Amino acid sequence: MNYKNITIAGSGVLGYQIAFQTAFHGFQVTVYDINDEVLEKAKAKFLPMSEAFKKDLNATQVQLDKTFVNLKYTSDLKEAVKDADLVIESVPENPTIKIGFYENLAKVAPEKTIFATNSSTMIPSQFAESTGRPSHFLALHFANSIWKHNTAEIMGHAGTDPKVFEDVVAFAKAIGMLALPLKKEQPGYIINSMLVPFFNSATDLLIKEIADPETIDKTWMKATGSPTGPFAMLDVVGITTLYNVVKMAADKTNDPVKIKTVAYLKENFIDKNKLGLSTGEGFYKYPNPAYKEADFLK
Ligand code: NAD
Repeated sequence: MNYKNITIAGSGVLGYQIAFQTAFHGFQVTVYDINDEVLEKAKAKFLPMSEAFKKDLNATQVQLDKTFVNLKYTSDLKEAVKDADLVIESVPENPTIKIGFYENLAKVAPEKTIFATNSSTMIPSQFAESTGRPSHFLALHFANSIWKHNTAEIMGHAGTDPKVFEDVVAFAKAIGMLALPLKKEQPGYIINSMLVPFFNSATDLLIKEIADPETIDKTWMKATGSPTGPFAMLDVVGITTLYNVVKMAADKTNDPVKIKTVAYLKENFIDKNKLGLSTGEGFYKYPNPAYKEADFLK
């Protein structure tokens, strides 16, 4: 892998984090977004981000100053990718937007450029044709709070060149990620293939009135030694995301338990703005949730 110039397309929640992480590890990073106003918003987020790097990673001021030097910004796609070795696409999770982006990118990117998508719920074969270079395209999926939750799932589609795959695995390691290669395409990658059924099992137990959230969490925590149970985890993920995932399943399957879960979440959480850790209340109340109390498992 001899990548030097990396372009991050989309500077939203995940894009600006990927940009900063990549620049921190010494790569030349160009941040691309639809207009300069959005790019200004991303720039404003880099300062608090650097504070998080100091606090969580003991990053030094010298390292952070170098990081800022490695970052460039443009809203001109041709300019953004003119010497890119790799473009990491982190535009909204909407197939029409992504396809439009790849069609435009294909027109202006140099031949050498590898394209990677950070999509959480879609798979690379959905976009391979629109990239105009299927063999040089794959998924590179990060988690929110990338500097702390530093997983990178790398997933090709059937036509991805194995050398491209290997290079992207090496790149992920080079920016401080735990590289997690997938051998085949899988919707939800590894993490969401495990988490979604786990959360579904927990909410099913609740909706079927088998047990309350605290009892379910206690069971999981004591029996497995985990510091959190599914409902404490859901407060961190956010109840809105849970609601959207369950609603999609309910609409698709008409499963009565899922339909009841949607109504329950809407009435008790969404409508009351109890969206989890971010709003101070979800299944637990913050900043001192019951599951962190010393006698919770007594
Ligand atoms: P977001 O809405 O916060 O950011 C998207 C950014 O893309 C915005 O800045 C927007 O202006 C920009 N954009 C829109 N159209 C564009 C275009 N045509 N070209 C370039 N930029 C464009 O979204 P996000 O949460 O950062 O998600 C981005 C991607 O990352 C999605 O595919 C999502 O599945 C994935 N992802 C998100 C998370 C998460 O926790 N938010 C975690 C892992 C992966």
